[in-house]
Amino acid sequence: MNEANKYSLLFDPIRIGPVTARNRFFQVPHCDGMGHVRPRAEAAMRAMKAEGGWAVVSNQETEIHPTSDLSPFAENRLWDARDIPGLRLMTDAVHEKGALAAIELVHNGNHAQNLFSRAPILAPSDMSLDSAFPKQARAMDKSDIRNLRRWHREAAIRARDAGFDIVYVYAGHQMTLAQHFMLPHMNTRSDEYGGSLENRVRLTRELLEDTREAIGDTCAVAFRFAVDEMLGADGMQAAEEGRAVVELLAELPDLWDVNVASWANDSVTTRFQPQDGYQNDYIGFVKTVTSKPVVGVGRLTSPDMMVSMIRKGLVDLIGAARPSIADPFLPQKIEQGRIDEIRECIGCNICVMADSAGVPIRCTQNPTMGEEWRRGWHPERIAPKASEDETLVIGAGPAGLECAMQLARRGYQVTLAEASDDLGGRVLRESRLPGLGAWMRVADHRLHDLRQRANVQIFTQSRLSSDEVLELGIPNVFVATGSRWRRDGIGRSTLRKPPIIDAQSIILTPDDLTTGKMPPQGTVVIYDDDHAYIAGVLAEKLAQDGYNVVFVTPESLVSSFTVLTLEQHRIQARLLELGVTIICNHSLAQIGPDRAQIVCGFTDRIQSVACTSVVLVTERLRETELYDALKDKQLKTLELIGDAAGPALIADAVYAGHMAARNFERTETEIERDWFRREIVSLAEGDME
Ligand code: ADP
Ligand code: SF4
Repeated sequence: MNEANKYSLLFDPIRIGPVTARNRFFQVPHCDGMGHVRPRAEAAMRAMKAEGGWAVVSNQETEIHPTSDLSPFAENRLWDARDIPGLRLMTDAVHEKGALAAIELVHNGNHAQNLFSRAPILAPSDMSLDSAFPKQARAMDKSDIRNLRRWHREAAIRARDAGFDIVYVYAGHQMTLAQHFMLPHMNTRSDEYGGSLENRVRLTRELLEDTREAIGDTCAVAFRFAVDEMLGADGMQAAEEGRAVVELLAELPDLWDVNVASWANDSVTTRFQPQDGYQNDYIGFVKTVTSKPVVGVGRLTSPDMMVSMIRKGLVDLIGAARPSIADPFLPQKIEQGRIDEIRECIGCNICVMADSAGVPIRCTQNPTMGEEWRRGWHPERIAPKASEDETLVIGAGPAGLECAMQLARRGYQVTLAEASDDLGGRVLRESRLPGLGAWMRVADHRLHDLRQRANVQIFTQSRLSSDEVLELGIPNVFVATGSRWRRDGIGRSTLRKPPIIDAQSIILTPDDLTTGKMPPQGTVVIYDDDHAYIAGVLAEKLAQDGYNVVFVTPESLVSSFTVLTLEQHRIQARLLELGVTIICNHSLAQIGPDRAQIVCGFTDRIQSVACTSVVLVTERLRETELYDALKDKQLKTLELIGDAAGPALIADAVYAGHMAARNFERTETEIERDWFRREIVSLAEGDME
């Protein structure tokens, strides 16, 4: 059987209520930081998935009323008819590429902060917001419930008028009123909407019935439901009430979209859940209870697993958010038997980070994600070469690899030179740390592509000097030489060099630890002034290796940036479980031969921590020596990219490499003119009503 036939099951059409999906690939709703604020960008991004072969392309949570105002986050909005044209951009674009468009209607209850609308906050019972705002939600009375049903119904009609084919009722991620009503720890009502499960499910039942009644003749009604809260006996469990809910509502929706809550469990990172298909054990029962089609997720990128999930009767449709972000053309690649071209999601949640930060989505693996409209980038297409010029890329980290791959795809002759024995740069080094193995996919995907191409030459063990670069005679040079961690303690909180007295020999950096230089056994102080993942994962490694680890940070949380990737709580828990001593709100004052002195950020009180080594995770120094030496050498192109130009995330290095390859042989004027498009608020008369 050839590859394409092996997976033909995935390309069988399937009926969902009154509509038909052309195959089994279903892009479930996911946030994108564009939404109602950037509707053109959202439409183009969703349309790219449709072009890539997804049968159903959903938008993201769509607020139905000002009492569910998620500002400042850029979700979708359908408060009234004025929101229809923005959403119509998406449905038209998705339909043009042959897919169905789905909309996820939501009322967020006490998950909304209503900061823009200043409307009252609604919940099943009186309670605080689920965020640290000093506001409370009020228990909905009967007229609130009547209103909610009306808002939802009106939104469903507007969704149909905006061109959507599938309309969701949403009870998941701990973020929605429908789910809040179901949960006894949130619903303490004594009326017909509280108490028994049947009562707690009543609101959802009504929303499903209302939606079907309003638009069910032409649109499918989907129900997104978290079958398990992953709280054990303290929450809804798939084996108990989760199942009972499915039994109660079994035939009511046209489609069951099932997952686990909260969002951090649904979109868990590979660091904490390396297994693809990790939700199967929870959602597997749903198809035994309902005759309606079921879609499930779990970072599904392997077509073999997809086929087996359908064969085993776990799901009818393969759901994906992150795999569709990393590779919008995943279905098409499977259909055409181009399996090894799939850009697999690495489970890093940088996509989530962007949404949590209120800016357009981005992806470590797919640098074109979020750039479809504003830069016109296509994940699978790039302009052909503009000349016969040769190119040299120096450094095979994420920036160099992406730059080399895109230059090669454009048709240029590419020479890639790497100083060390192995390719991958920081991705290779970091992927050796606990839980980060999947990150190597960033390098593997690009190396696989580069190795297929006749116009690419790759050299390892080739640390190039400026003379050697000139000897090669290649006129266009991209310098992606990366960065190294500082050894002097300077960083965000320690702007002046802390005194290091007779202590250079006890200092290590992440570069030492990721290239195999380990401290002597004893107590290791890890000083984290970086706040991303690296210090936390190094602490984990050292603790696993038997060191006594003291983690010091000026922040009040370990790896505070990782709140945005939904991992922080897990990282801190893991370190505590491994016996790591955590000292927050302290910065580095001094390092001596057998101790580190740290100072409290509030009281200036100094304390001394006895130790045998100190790992400094503060800032990185850009490796620009080669670039600086080449500056006055009359090369046609000399460009510094990636961490060497500005240390940042792996996603940023990939993006920089991609950008450099796209911009190669374009004039400054062209690059500036096409910087990127913005969606400017229209002040045309009529728009402000
Ligand atoms: P980025 O994230 O920007 O891609 P990395 O630090 O991951 O940066 O990768 C930079 C790569 O460049 C490393 O693998 C390093 O060995 C390589 N490198 C640094 N200097 C040179 C040089 N002079 N010649 C060739 N390779 C170099
Ligand atoms: Fe996957 Fe990371 Fe891309 Fe998100 S950013 S889709 S987790 S690779």
